[in-house]
Amino acid sequence: MSFLIKDARNFVGQEVEIHGWVFNKRSSGSVIFLQLRDGSGFIQAVVSKNEVSPEVFATAQETRDESTVVVAGHLKEEPRSPFSFEIQTRNLKIVSLAQTDFPISAKEHGVDFLLGQRHLWLRFPRQWAILRIRDQIASSINQFLHREGYTRLDSPILTPSACEGTTTLFPVPYLPAWPDVTDQSVPSWLNLDQAKPYAYLSQSGQLYLEAGIASLGKVYDFGPTFRAEKSKTKRHLTEFWMMDAEAAFLEYEGLLDFEEKMVLAVIQDVLAACPAEFKTLERDPAPLAQIKSPFPKLTYEETLKKLRELGSDIKDGEDLGNDDETRLMNYFHQPLFVMKFPATFKAFYFKRDEQRPELTLSSDLLAPEGYGEIIGGGQREDDYDTLLKRMKEAGLNTQDYEWYLDLRRYGASPHSGFGLGLERMVAWICKLEHIREAIPFPRTIYRFTP
Ligand code: ATP
Ligand code: MN
Repeated sequence: MSFLIKDARNFVGQEVEIHGWVFNKRSSGSVIFLQLRDGSGFIQAVVSKNEVSPEVFATAQETRDESTVVVAGHLKEEPRSPFSFEIQTRNLKIVSLAQTDFPISAKEHGVDFLLGQRHLWLRFPRQWAILRIRDQIASSINQFLHREGYTRLDSPILTPSACEGTTTLFPVPYLPAWPDVTDQSVPSWLNLDQAKPYAYLSQSGQLYLEAGIASLGKVYDFGPTFRAEKSKTKRHLTEFWMMDAEAAFLEYEGLLDFEEKMVLAVIQDVLAACPAEFKTLERDPAPLAQIKSPFPKLTYEETLKKLRELGSDIKDGEDLGNDDETRLMNYFHQPLFVMKFPATFKAFYFKRDEQRPELTLSSDLLAPEGYGEIIGGGQREDDYDTLLKRMKEAGLNTQDYEWYLDLRRYGASPHSGFGLGLERMVAWICKLEHIREAIPFPRTIYRFTP
């Protein structure tokens, strides 16, 4: 049976073997301390000169940070250690001796340097904790949606047009390395020698999920989405993971209840599954533990009032900016629904409020501790004539959306859905300063390496 550090509690008093890496080595003459990680956790192995063979001690002296090792020894509880357990080493083998010039040292590095070393930075305890919490959030969302009867429907990444407006679309030209572009089998409309896009990278799978509901009822997707964000903020990546969900016969109020239920389920799961990760991050879980139903709700108009009370100079009809969201969410200690945004800055597909047709049945869910929007959602327009009218008002080429209009011609239903940004959720739950640490290899306007 192979041993993992995370299970140390069950192995106290036993001989164990760790396959892992040295992330810190200290020595005081006759004792060498090796801090080890194995992917599941962190522990310290003590190598005492008078308890191991001269060969093993020499190997311990030879090893260095970031070397790959196999360590065997006696596991004991060690309340004074930050890892709670310790290994009295009996045997040690070096699998791969790291070079001496590992670029990341104990001294403070700038974030830009660390991002350039992201492939190595990922192995540090803080990044480990974030990656584990990210995995837990994604897995909780999947489990929650399946419990709720949703089926995953993978929406395409290469798409013919925008879903949220065209300004942030990444075009993709069809420029393969075919030697002979006069080849008869290549369709002429591909415009191989021009920079004309073949497709665009998806900004959201929503429209495709709307097609899925007449087949499966409740569907979701979970994958990378792309936006050519122009501004540099702490909340925007150019590649991020979005979970979109869409359900037939789900109306506005039901949608908000469902979003709330999902967020509560995810928080509960993460708190239960990741105490060690929170400790590593020095993230106090208390503000998350006190989140409870029902979340406060404000209409857009009430939100403007509140914001002005809090010192914002936001104008009527303006969308909430990052600073407004931060201001608002330093005030609220629960996630907040902001409801019914004006149609002027919302996409064409939102259903309108019957009493106030200038308002949409839309809502954003904002996270506390200053984090702001994590979910955007709403009820969709399901009437054919109204939708067609809205598209024309929005200046869209309706021919591009014939397939989408078909969904209102054949089997339309009242329906709603939402999109959750995984990295926004991770940034909030881990209490990160910046969204770039919430994804393994962040892409922003300034960085797309390594
Ligand atoms: P924002 O106003 O913050 O730019 P948005 O209104 O453009 O967000 P939506 O189009 O509703 O966002 O997308 C759904 C979710 O996707 C958002 O609630 C957010 O969690 C996430 N999201 C949107 N844009 C980004 C981005 N550039 N980087 C990371 N996450 C994003
Ligand atoms: Mn945006």
